[in-house]
Amino acid sequence: MDQVKYLLDEDRLPTAWYNIAADLPTPPPPPLHPVTGQPIGPADLAPLFPMALIMQEVSTERHIEIPEEVRSIYRQWRPTPLYRARRLERALDTPAKIYYKYEGVSPAGSHKPNTAVPQAYYNKQEGVKRIITETGAGQWGSSLALAGSWFGIEIVVYMVKVSYQQKPYRRALMENVGATVIASPSPTTNAGRAILASTPDSTGSLGIAISEAVEVAAQDPDARYALGSVLNHVLLHQTVIGLEAQAQLEMAGDYPDIIVGATGGGSNFAGITFPFIGAKLRGGRDVRIVAVEPAACPSLTKGRYAYDYGDTARMAPMVKMHTLGHTFVPSGFHAGGLRYHGMSPMVSHLVQLGHIEPTAMQQLETFAAGVQFSRAEGIVPAPEANHAVAGAIREALRCKETGESRTILFNLCGHGHFDMQAYMDYHAGRLHDFEYSDEEVAMALAGLPSVGA
Ligand SMILES: *Cc1c(COP(=O)(O)O)cnc(C)c1O
Repeated sequence: MDQVKYLLDEDRLPTAWYNIAADLPTPPPPPLHPVTGQPIGPADLAPLFPMALIMQEVSTERHIEIPEEVRSIYRQWRPTPLYRARRLERALDTPAKIYYKYEGVSPAGSHKPNTAVPQAYYNKQEGVKRIITETGAGQWGSSLALAGSWFGIEIVVYMVKVSYQQKPYRRALMENVGATVIASPSPTTNAGRAILASTPDSTGSLGIAISEAVEVAAQDPDARYALGSVLNHVLLHQTVIGLEAQAQLEMAGDYPDIIVGATGGGSNFAGITFPFIGAKLRGGRDVRIVAVEPAACPSLTKGRYAYDYGDTARMAPMVKMHTLGHTFVPSGFHAGGLRYHGMSPMVSHLVQLGHIEPTAMQQLETFAAGVQFSRAEGIVPAPEANHAVAGAIREALRCKETGESRTILFNLCGHGHFDMQAYMDYHAGRLHDFEYSDEEVAMALAGLPSVGA
């Protein structure tokens, strides 16, 4: 494998993130200005992000150095363990080898601090006092809240109202480390007030919460905005997962034939897969890459690959991605982190290029997989991570049918300790599958902008 050793320090921590833009045969289509429809440049993004992150967003350098201040925090929980799921293999009676990378050992319990820490660091470097963000289930908000407290930056979180009401512990976690949490839609922004006027009992969506956060950040010269997924620089930061996995598998004398990840906005999936896809693009071994999304929010399998707005109020740039439409509000299924209407443009581009196989799974299959995994391996996965577990189990059972011995790697992107109500509901038979009908897809897609189609 190329240069992996060179990229690890004495603590086996990557010294640089991997940027897949360097190895793409064609670049993804550019982001467009939400009003003019013209390609945007770094200056357009300056009110929202620190320049260091904007430069990472558009960079085509293969390796981007991880600052020592960031690595010194990563060291608290990185490298994360790579486990062989031997008891799960036995329970499935499969000839496949199953490995999983466990991101639940971070202080926030998921992969999100991998990007929250560098984002807070670069904002601090550029004198930003306040970061405004949104959160769905609360994993991103709690990760950024922690990073803010480490770097001395105030954090304001617009939290999707249904989660704000149903997940008081997540809110407490953010407030405990000093963040301000506001239920979205809120009366504090034009975007929020507009939604409340038309839909007073709106339970919110990520698209609405993003609009509120972007509006506040853009108007405050001391503030910037932060996103926990979707964007190139976020995916870049997450590649520590796959870079470590490459080195760890090399130590184990193995290499994956299949990699499975859960996709919401695409960041944990990109984190584990991009270093392997990159190796393949540079002439290395072939790997099957499987993306698993919820059937109730099927952007990759039922959405359209088109330009769409990143948020409901159409203030964020338009990007070309697999989208269900920026007005999409998903049904109440439990994987809160997988409810975004679109997919990362970079992941979408790689799907179009044929490097990723998207699949959708129903909620009940994912929870059944999570329970089977808990019983075998002793770790309770986050409902989002259950999609990766279920995908890996499907592949392992396929190996059992065909008698093929394959090496499967998946990303266990977080633990489910704050999601036990969902497991209780599952065991009590209160969870249901949601099919997203073709009529609903058509309706949500009707509002797509008519640019660059
Ligand atoms: C946020 C989150 C996700 C979804 O985001 P991606 O960018 O697709 O990774 C998935 N799993 C967990 C545990 C999360 O916290």
